[in-house]
Amino acid sequence: MKIYPVSLGCPKNAVDFEIILGGLEDFEIVDNIRQANICLVNTCAFIESATQESIDTILEISQENPNVKLFVSGCLPQRYGKELIDLLPEVDLFLTCQNPRQAAEQIRSFLGLPEGKESYRRPLTPLPYAYVKISEGCDNRCSYCTIPSIKGGFRSRSQEKILQTAYQLADQGVRELILVAQDTTSYGKDLGVKNGLAKLLNVLHRIKGIEWIRIMYTHPAGWDDYLIDAVAEMDKVVKYIDLPIQHVSDSILERMGRRVTRKQIEVLIEKMRERIPMLALRTSLILGFPGEGHDEFNELVEFVEKQKFDRLGAFEYSAEEGTRALNWTDDVTQRTKTERRNMIMELQADISAFKNQSLIGQKLLVLVDQYDRDRNSTIGRTQWDAPEIDNTVILPETVQVGRFYRAEIQSADVYDLYAI
Ligand code: SF4
Repeated sequence: MKIYPVSLGCPKNAVDFEIILGGLEDFEIVDNIRQANICLVNTCAFIESATQESIDTILEISQENPNVKLFVSGCLPQRYGKELIDLLPEVDLFLTCQNPRQAAEQIRSFLGLPEGKESYRRPLTPLPYAYVKISEGCDNRCSYCTIPSIKGGFRSRSQEKILQTAYQLADQGVRELILVAQDTTSYGKDLGVKNGLAKLLNVLHRIKGIEWIRIMYTHPAGWDDYLIDAVAEMDKVVKYIDLPIQHVSDSILERMGRRVTRKQIEVLIEKMRERIPMLALRTSLILGFPGEGHDEFNELVEFVEKQKFDRLGAFEYSAEEGTRALNWTDDVTQRTKTERRNMIMELQADISAFKNQSLIGQKLLVLVDQYDRDRNSTIGRTQWDAPEIDNTVILPETVQVGRFYRAEIQSADVYDLYAI
């Protein structure tokens, strides 16, 4: 069996995908659809544009190799279910279940193959780092978000299961664990565990071979002094926090159902920067939410100028079926949404360029992820950069992949550092 795997969407989806592929351990992975007799497309469907990308990818693949057995997993079948059968007759089987191991067994039984052996994840990310999903679903129910309706309520994975995964990854040579979930700061709450995330960091911290632990997708309302101190005190926990705030205008935050005010966000950021030296803060913003007038937008611009986030992603609001926000008139034109997003990203590009210039001449510890054939270079990241979304460090091709390396920064541009 030759399988051609395609994974779309977020790292949480990628983890599920690696587990499905682990259940197909006897399939050979090929990187050309024409050589494959099986194709598995792991889809994303949390907003309309992601849904469209998933559908386009499925159609492209079925045109490139009409004989391939086509399986579809991920959020598209979980969100739309049986509706898709008529819409996409090219697909042989939609995997609607959320359990990736079950999905692998459904593929095997569809192909008339015996049950798979006990399987590990089949990592698709470069070796030095791996994502670890610590929970599924979300109880926050932000008014614009479809994820709770796709993934259900918040469910923590047991600490035991997470540790088992982390030790397996360390044995495979992983040096950096990246904790992901819809809301990592809620970890343990459903299990009645107080300070669950900080306690989880504490046990992961003891794993030999793991040098960096990164927390992604935190919720501003989920932070307290205990967790801030845990990040500050544990040296393996990178001094990097992903803190999506989405907006700062109190009226917009309330309509989004974010459960925090501007003041609370400001106090939290101040505390984090005070208590965690050399901290890099990443955030995400949504532009063009219903009711975002000039004043609300200008307030956000001033906030971004003042706070100078180290890393920032900005997205245009998309009115989604099944969300509370759909009840409000989508009163910001598409053109204005795009203009506002571009303005924020231009502002952030200046901030990023300025911060990167200040790193020239410094020696920084870099985890070397992979070799880049096109650039004849190796690519790495500082502790202040998550894979795929943040800055990279471009290194000489002689630098060994998979290791930490002390890099001397020679030059910089908006999102990349160049080092020897
Ligand atoms: S916290 Fe994130 S995943 Fe949860 S409802 Fe809000 S936006 Fe969606």
